[in-house]
Amino acid sequence: MCRHLAYLGPARTISDVLTTGSHSLLEQSWAPNDMRCDAVMNADGYGATWWSRSGTRSHRSQQPIWNDPAVSEVLTEVSSTAVVAAIRSATIGMPITHTANAPFSDGTWAFSHNGVVRDWPESLAALGESVPAVDWMRTPAATDSASLWVLLQHALRTRPPDVALRELTEEVLAAAPGSRLNLLLSDGTTVWATAVHHSLSVRVDDTSVWVASEPLGAATPGNTTEGQWRSVPDGSFVTATIGEPVVLSAVGEPAPVY
Ligand code: GLN
Repeated sequence: MCRHLAYLGPARTISDVLTTGSHSLLEQSWAPNDMRCDAVMNADGYGATWWSRSGTRSHRSQQPIWNDPAVSEVLTEVSSTAVVAAIRSATIGMPITHTANAPFSDGTWAFSHNGVVRDWPESLAALGESVPAVDWMRTPAATDSASLWVLLQHALRTRPPDVALRELTEEVLAAAPGSRLNLLLSDGTTVWATAVHHSLSVRVDDTSVWVASEPLGAATPGNTTEGQWRSVPDGSFVTATIGEPVVLSAVGEPAPVY
């Protein structure tokens, strides 16, 4: 399954966010620790969204992250205090194109999905009936994750972000039981995330927040990226913002027994 992360804190370059740590997102592209599917790598592209004074900006590519010169030649020149990034292992049958890569963003929000919606697209048909056809025509790609983004954008018009993300998670689990739904949403100030049948970890200190599918490295004293990572229990909804304790609550089905 894909891997993703969110960072809030002192300005860092986008390249730094992608490559920092002894188990960076870059390393997770070819050597992930916890995939929970048949794939062994995340080679189907990557993306990063950051917040600037004029809203979100993104770079996405269908190349493996290790193959894109932008990481060492362009994204070294862009800094932000808030970044969402993702590497992709396409679910079998779903297209490999840069528009299928998370993060999905619209100027305000950035969204990512690790996992799979069971029996997509049929399983989401009833949920999609409340969304205007014109919004479906703007679906960025023919994937389960892009469909979740269309549903979430629609919900964000009328609901607070935590409510919208929680309701989406619960509605999709009801419509498509057994789906893996690690969702990540940010407005550049707060990160909301779910851990549903997939791995998630958080690391917070007084000035920064990291939420990531896998810790970016082991604890190393003095290293501001590695530090103390906490594993998030399956079936959790996470709210994280700088300077506040991480809030965990239950979401979705009871955790499965592994
Ligand atoms: N199902 C999504 C896709 O194909 C996410 C894949 C994943 O998490 N590996 O894009």
